[in-house]
Amino acid sequence: GPRVGVLALQGDFREHAHVLAKLGAEVSLVRRPEELAEIDGLVIPGGESSVMDKLARTFGLQAPLQQAISAGLPVYGTCAGLILLADTVLDAIAGQESLGGLDVVVRRNAFGSQNQSFETDLDIPALGDEPVHAVFIRGPVVESVGEAATPLATLADGRVVAVEQGNLLGTSFHPEITGEYRFHEYFLAKVRSRVRR
Ligand code: GLN
Repeated sequence: GPRVGVLALQGDFREHAHVLAKLGAEVSLVRRPEELAEIDGLVIPGGESSVMDKLARTFGLQAPLQQAISAGLPVYGTCAGLILLADTVLDAIAGQESLGGLDVVVRRNAFGSQNQSFETDLDIPALGDEPVHAVFIRGPVVESVGEAATPLATLADGRVVAVEQGNLLGTSFHPEITGEYRFHEYFLAKVRSRVRR
């Protein structure tokens, strides 16, 4: 299978590794820049984006990750991972940076205190007829989608919670914890179509 890395600085990287392995990928945990050379795709997990950003800079991963993204590495970010992929982050903590790549504006912790965590079903035509059960945990909302990016899923009120742009994919929610494998399959299709080995 394709070699897929999971950024393992912080957050729920084990859950992603488990899903990817079930789907037949050769999974490796990525903590060092050299490890980016060995993968055909990368998942950035949920967790805390400001902490992941800080650790990525501490471990010298920020620039290599940005280079890999510009070079076309397929990357899927969930929740904090989506925040890291966004070109613009609102309500970031002081000094927080993102890697960028996705032509979107996201807002961290965008659901009010009543709704910080909730579950809902989403219709996502790109993934088939069955609705996607989506779990949100202090997730971001995509406040605006630039020309280069495409919304994949919206809440009933129209807010965008999944986007794609070429080899990049991002969701505000966490398919890795619900047994919902279609997002990872969709991502692996991007990885396979780019792998030239
Ligand atoms: N609120 C977190 C952040 O800003 C994201 C939460 C999550 O990944 N479940 O990074």
